Amino acid sequence: MEERWPRIVTTRRPNEVAPNLLDDDAARRRFTWARAREGLDGLPGGGWNIAHEAVFRHARTQGKKVAVRWLGRHGERLDITYADLAVRVAKFANALNAMGVGEGERVYALLPRVPELYVAALGTLAHRSVFCPMFSAFGPDPIASRIRIGGGRVLVTTPALYDRKVRPVRAQLESLRDVVLVDESWAAAMDMHAGTYAIGPTPANTPALLHFTSGTTGTPKGALHVHEAVLMHHLTGRYALDLHADDVFWCTADPGWVTGTSYGIIAPLVCGLTMIVDESDFDGDRWYEILSRERVSVWYTAPTAIRMLIKAGMEAAKKRDLSSLRFLASVGEPLNPDAVVWSEQAFGRPFHDNWWQTETGGILIANTAAMEIRPGSMGKALPGVEAAIVRRTAKGVEVIDAPDAEGELAIKKGWPSMFVGYWNEPERYEKCFVGGWYLTGDLAKRDADGYFWFVGRADDVIKSAGHLIGPFEVESALLEHPVVAEAGVIGKPDAVAGNIVKAFVALKPGCKSSTELVDELLGWARKRLGTAVAPKELSIVPSLPRTRSGKVLRRLLRARELGLPEGDLSTLESSK
Ligand code: AMP
Repeated sequence: MEERWPRIVTTRRPNEVAPNLLDDDAARRRFTWARAREGLDGLPGGGWNIAHEAVFRHARTQGKKVAVRWLGRHGERLDITYADLAVRVAKFANALNAMGVGEGERVYALLPRVPELYVAALGTLAHRSVFCPMFSAFGPDPIASRIRIGGGRVLVTTPALYDRKVRPVRAQLESLRDVVLVDESWAAAMDMHAGTYAIGPTPANTPALLHFTSGTTGTPKGALHVHEAVLMHHLTGRYALDLHADDVFWCTADPGWVTGTSYGIIAPLVCGLTMIVDESDFDGDRWYEILSRERVSVWYTAPTAIRMLIKAGMEAAKKRDLSSLRFLASVGEPLNPDAVVWSEQAFGRPFHDNWWQTETGGILIANTAAMEIRPGSMGKALPGVEAAIVRRTAKGVEVIDAPDAEGELAIKKGWPSMFVGYWNEPERYEKCFVGGWYLTGDLAKRDADGYFWFVGRADDVIKSAGHLIGPFEVESALLEHPVVAEAGVIGKPDAVAGNIVKAFVALKPGCKSSTELVDELLGWARKRLGTAVAPKELSIVPSLPRTRSGKVLRRLLRARELGLPEGDLSTLESSK
């Protein structure tokens, strides 16, 4: 593997805590899953409950410590201690009981990053119903499909989000029985319930979280995770993010996506530290202000945000006292090697890239604190995780042992946060596993020392600003417009967002192309899909290229858009 970038070994500052993985290879050899249970409580009668590990046990031992420091959009600030969080969580769990919500029923959230979101998530987990977060920038269509597919029984949202995004599709949501509004009446409504809660039996395989993700075709898939996943949240919090109990940790991801739940709620609280929640969206100055003022020590963010900070210039970082930062990690899309080197210069710390996906429930490949960083690499498989590069064959899969050979990234089945199903789609789930391997859909390479290097996606899903978008969902919304006959959607490389969503449409006979129509179609898609999913660019074309069986050839669209040779579609796999 050719490396153009210097390898980086992070040096410790005087008096700094020892990294959790002091000697990487030795720790790997010593690792057993039984050891990973150390540092967790377990329920008295056996089993694991995420809310118990994240909140209730700490409320007893370190109740006065701040669990969540919430920073409001307009400068508000709220500290919630572990004891206070336990009371709020208990009240929400009791409220679910009072509504008659049963174990395993689905509680959805459509909320900005307000304290009630965290309370609802943990209260649902304590109650042993299934928590399903949705991104508040989704439009009515993605919201309706996700609630319908998962059979949502309860929705927690704000009056404004309800009016704009749920009311228009409410009639389609037959399963939805209760809508809990986060408004002025919230506190009084919660105060009607007891502030203590005895968690019922939670065997390890009790369903806990439903996270929707996108495939190339068909509807979004609901990846289901169980309470035992908390083992992985804890382990990766310690190993991949180097979390210690006295850290101030900030994960910038929104809990509407899996990173914002696993590492923006669960892992930090399970590790018993203080976590920052910022209600605002990205704003470079505000971010530096938060890092500096709140003395953030561990920061977990994403390449798009890092690229935006780089664009804003190094002086903005240098102006601040960022000496509290000890460990920086990045996930969700390829992290350019120059960003790692930039961060060394800007913060005196490199970004540690790590890799995982909705289905894996937690980080599986990482540059840990003790490892030498190879900029551009996602790192090595964590202890307890077996990752390989494989090729699909007629008989199953073949592991490719040769270093630096490209193939599909596969993970040996059975890590604790592995998804246990796609909601109501057993066949789609089964297809992900071949010969005991989970096939990730990512193309990658592994070098001779076990470092993994991302190459691209093996399918047509689009990563834009760190969010996974299914082209089919976007095409379906466009096809509902009366003038649209055909639609094809691709990811178009973008220097900051990684990719942007670009749509191509062909019109019905008699309809005329115009710039007004392009604007109208973009507006139509935004209204239905929301800003997080809608295309940013749209071209009207006479017709779309199709396979013989009639499928839109998205790769050809992409090749044409990028001026790549149409014959060699293999070069299109890379999303870099
Ligand atoms: P999601 O399920 O939305 O979390 O998206 C998972 C996908 O994001 C993976 O399958 C990869 O394609 C991509 N991804 C996640 N982490 C990385 C990373 N460190 N480098 C490159 N791609 C990544």
